[in-house]
Amino acid sequence: MLAGVSLWAWQQTRSEMLSNLRVVAQFVSDNAQAVFDELGNDLPYLSRQLRREQGDLAAHYALLKTYQDFHPSVASMALFAPDGKMLLNTDRPFGSRLPDPRDNPSFGASLRATLDASGPWIGLTQFGLVLGAWRIPVRYVVRQPDGEPIYIIQAAVLLKHITSAWAHMTLPTDTAIGLIRTDGYHIARLPTSDPQRIYSTRMTGALIQQLNRHPEAKIGAYQGKVQTDGTRRLGIYVHLSRFPAVAYASLSSHQIVLDWGRRITPFVTLGVLSIVGFLGLAYLLIAREQRHATELSVQSRRQVLTGLPNRIGAQEWIESELNRGCITLSVLQIDLLNFKDINTALGTEAGDRVLQEIARRLRMHAERLNGFVSHLDADEFLLGLPGSGLINAHAAAQAIRRTVNSPYEIEGRTLRLQASIGIACIPDDAHSAAGLLRAVDAALHAAKRGQSGVSFYDPQAGRLSDARVSFQHAVERALEHDEFRLYYQPIIDLASGRIVGAEGLIRWHDPERGLLPPSEFIPLAETTGWIAPLGEWVFRRACSDAKAWQRIGLDLRISVNLSASQFNSPELIEQLQTELDVAELAARHIELEVTETAVMDDVLHSAEIMRKLSALGLRLAIDDFGTGYSSLAYLRKLPAQTIKIDQSFIRDIDNDPEDLEIVKAIVALAHVLGRHTLAEGIETEAQYQLLKELGVDLGQGYWFSPPLPEPKFLERALGWQHQPDSAISGD
Ligand code: C2E
Ligand code: MG
Ligand code: MG
Repeated sequence: MLAGVSLWAWQQTRSEMLSNLRVVAQFVSDNAQAVFDELGNDLPYLSRQLRREQGDLAAHYALLKTYQDFHPSVASMALFAPDGKMLLNTDRPFGSRLPDPRDNPSFGASLRATLDASGPWIGLTQFGLVLGAWRIPVRYVVRQPDGEPIYIIQAAVLLKHITSAWAHMTLPTDTAIGLIRTDGYHIARLPTSDPQRIYSTRMTGALIQQLNRHPEAKIGAYQGKVQTDGTRRLGIYVHLSRFPAVAYASLSSHQIVLDWGRRITPFVTLGVLSIVGFLGLAYLLIAREQRHATELSVQSRRQVLTGLPNRIGAQEWIESELNRGCITLSVLQIDLLNFKDINTALGTEAGDRVLQEIARRLRMHAERLNGFVSHLDADEFLLGLPGSGLINAHAAAQAIRRTVNSPYEIEGRTLRLQASIGIACIPDDAHSAAGLLRAVDAALHAAKRGQSGVSFYDPQAGRLSDARVSFQHAVERALEHDEFRLYYQPIIDLASGRIVGAEGLIRWHDPERGLLPPSEFIPLAETTGWIAPLGEWVFRRACSDAKAWQRIGLDLRISVNLSASQFNSPELIEQLQTELDVAELAARHIELEVTETAVMDDVLHSAEIMRKLSALGLRLAIDDFGTGYSSLAYLRKLPAQTIKIDQSFIRDIDNDPEDLEIVKAIVALAHVLGRHTLAEGIETEAQYQLLKELGVDLGQGYWFSPPLPEPKFLERALGWQHQPDSAISGD
């Protein structure tokens, strides 16, 4: 009986341990797969581009650098000749002297091995000659159509980029986790006491022997002596797809036996004393054993700080929802934009308090929505909404953004954070838990780059589309060749009919495509980050034009449009001040236009930015007012002098009584609050007369003049100004 119970306890211990190891190995595999799959998809695509521009190293450098900028997992991109000579490396400026890998036999051999691979290939983990850090190279051979190699592309992923994701797991001591190629070379391992030895030695221990015995098994267990540290271990491995490599997690067998032995010893001693006592104790010990195993299992699924389930817990929750038959399920991944600043400025203790408070707020939301919250990583959270499609998830994301963005009182200070949220949904974006987590991560990545802070999963976004690459090159070239123009449209005082200002509207004189309106390139510029240099160009041009006009006696206020991301940029104030100083222009000559949708996202925060801009002396206008469906009451909080009523209300104002009522309401409220109103898009005399009667202060539209190139605008404006009796009217 004693033997039977002992054996039973032993089997219990072993199977619990294996189940935990399996969860960990699967997590390691999913994590690595996400990084390698992305590169595996993209390198062949980049290869096509390189072949097309073969020989033009400057163009190759620009392409690879742009790619790297959009892929935070990549530390550098390098290009090699087929003989192993390094041609460029984006970690160094173009044209810099580079080390020659051919001088180092192990680097040379690792590179040459790529030439035999038929697709993307994970090379040996080495201490990078250029990066000066341990890195994992993912390589791909660029070939002529006849198979002749032209280049080898290499994307270097920092080893710590992979291992730091594992370090967040709470695991029993003596656990080892890693990624290893099936030929025995380690890609990554934790713990690693001697990386030089681990990454340059071909392993032949228990795991590799098991892999050789069962080359087709996708997942398996192994037990025996491993070569890494000479211990006997019990482990689980999971094959990566596309790459000849596995993820593994193992525990030392010695540790398992010790653990079991410790528990079974008192059991044996007492068992001799009395069968009854023995049975009772056996029950207690086994219960304790199970508790211990459960604790281990719970620990490896929770974040200590917030007590919320971690990434493993999240994945299991999604799987269990799917197993229960849930058909639609959305997840929101939430990241805090400026959390690092809080940690740096106030210390990690304050940072921890903020995270706990966020966890509390998210829990409340989740309870209301019957959802699930997980704390994935340092400042990343996940909300799962079973039964919810993309539309409901988007509404939830807006509510969560407002909650997370509202202030935190920590140690007597008021702190603010900004949340970016990615959204993905089963069955639209993925069909499995791991796929859904990958999709939502990509969506979050897009949200961080975009302007609204919330983004859906877009399977194309991870890819460097033709349009995006050529757009980036084109903008660079356009800025260099001065292809942008700032057109001006007059702003008229409706009562007197006189010109009082002008709105600057950007155009692109593309030599190939002709004159492009902003709708063709501003949205793309927003998502690619090019809006910052474009916005800077616009502001500089507006300041210098205003100054030049003043010198010849034309005193007009110029309005400049700001996009949401410019408006929220921490550098905005300093940039504007610099440009004003350079042009020697007083700030009151410039009015900044921000759209209603951009400011209403977080009204209090926007009001704060607007107050700072006002303090510089700049005037402010709310553009496209009425399209954001926000409450008119919010206007009170925003220190803008001008409300620009969106042209969609003006278009039919003389026919549509509802539009007329809305415009009347806006005018009445604006006047109570002491703000000016401006009607956009006035196209007919009837509209002009009606708006004037309603008491709208200013107007703009084709009835007066379309936007004009600067020289033409100047000529006209001087004419209008110098004929005091002839106010502008449509022609
Ligand atoms: P917006 O600021 O609301 O600009 C008014 C738009 O209405 C302009 O379009 C203008 O050409 C057009 N418009 C003016 N009068 C009339 C009219 O009587 N009837 C009609 N149907 N349309 C009229 P545009 O120039 O195509 O600009 C579109 C939008 O692009 C602007 O809307 C603004 O949001 C954005 N934009 C333009 N320039 C810049 C810029 O320098 N920076 C940023 N961030 N955005 C800009
Ligand atoms: Mg505007
Ligand atoms: Mg507008």
